[in-house]
Amino acid sequence: MTTTFDSLGLAEPLLRALKAEKYEKPTPIQVQTIPLLIEGRDLLGVAETGTGKTAAFALPILHRLSNQTGPRRPNAPKALILAPTRELASQIGERLRAYGRQLNLRTTVIFGGVGQGQQVKALKAGVDILVATPGRLLDLCSQRHLRLDDVSILVLDEADRMLDMGFIHDVRKIVGFCNKERQSLLFSATMPTPIAKLANDILRDPVRVDVAPVKIAVERIDQRVYFVGSKDKRALLGDLLKDPAMGRVIVFTRTKRGADKVCRNLGQAGISADALHGNKGQNARVRALDAFRSGKVRALVATDIAARGIDVPGISHVINYELPNEPESYVHRIGRTARAGAGGAAVSFCDLAERPYLKAIEKLMKAQVEVAEHDLAETREEAMAREAVERVAGKGNGKRRNRHRGRRPNGQAQAAAGKTAGRKPTGRKSNNALRQPGASL
Ligand code: AMP
Repeated sequence: MTTTFDSLGLAEPLLRALKAEKYEKPTPIQVQTIPLLIEGRDLLGVAETGTGKTAAFALPILHRLSNQTGPRRPNAPKALILAPTRELASQIGERLRAYGRQLNLRTTVIFGGVGQGQQVKALKAGVDILVATPGRLLDLCSQRHLRLDDVSILVLDEADRMLDMGFIHDVRKIVGFCNKERQSLLFSATMPTPIAKLANDILRDPVRVDVAPVKIAVERIDQRVYFVGSKDKRALLGDLLKDPAMGRVIVFTRTKRGADKVCRNLGQAGISADALHGNKGQNARVRALDAFRSGKVRALVATDIAARGIDVPGISHVINYELPNEPESYVHRIGRTARAGAGGAAVSFCDLAERPYLKAIEKLMKAQVEVAEHDLAETREEAMAREAVERVAGKGNGKRRNRHRGRRPNGQAQAAAGKTAGRKPTGRKSNNALRQPGASL
């Protein structure tokens, strides 16, 4: 029997809002957590964006606050949600407003990088639910625009990202300001030791819910990897994007500078692109996201942190221009293309230096990524990698035979279109040698 939202115990106005959102049934994390959170239990949620976790905490918060009587006090929210990035905070705020549209509850979002005037004004007018990034929150607390002793529900979202971004001390400080008699929820896609410790310190007898994101994402996403020299990535990207099936694409780089460079290159190749990373001001980030959402811009070039929590529907492809050095980030990245049950496609470029990253990713996913063929000439670094593998595998004399030299740009478009045209790209023979048991680089 499938569980319905009606059976989870949510208040009628929330059920109506969910109908308006066209949510037909709760996702697994929602089924598991909503009834317990309504009861007031603490929660440790090992889950990431894309699983429906926002609604899993937003709906019970709205439900519980809607039952609370008592006036709204200025500068003293009753629920606090901490998020690592402005994008994620804004998205959570937007969801809370959507789900709570039939309720008389006020939500405000605060983050840095913009003037504080409007935020201070909103806090003063009184808010029920505050969504915030840690830095600005502490700033406003120290200026006495905000007090947290009324906070009876606290959510730490994407706690591992907050750790990565160096917010962990700020987070602990903020937790210390909140009401001791509170309900606490902590969500994290991964559980590094400092986060496990934080969870242990702040949660009381929590329910633990694990949603296996890796498996979900991997199953639904068509993944390919191209072995390509670092200098050839630019040409390969340009060629792939000749395929109109790549309608709305996020291109990931490891660094902000890398993102700017790829964005420039795409612009020069006549492909509309925008970059999204932490050095961009708030307005530029909002503009970039809006242009991408509306389809004005076809490619968004982003770093991992900036892209966290971005929820843009209809992303046709994720391209890993550079593979991430943390395998979990790969899963986060490719998850952008398969939102709420949809499928998607992810294409990765892997140069010689990145091969260990690919190995780590495959180990995490417990699956190999299919190798796709490109027609760019073999670069020196690729030849070195292949020869090393062939030496270890004890085959060949290290010379490449029948190698097509020179570029055939359309070849990549065909390979990329393979999925949509119902064809599978063939494995690349020389690089498949890398899959030989015992082969190492
Ligand atoms: P999240 O993991 O919270 O970022 O949610 C991912 C996406 O799934 C968002 O676009 C939500 O609006 C959507 N979503 C969440 N719960 C449901 C549901 N029960 N049915 C359909 N879509 C949902």
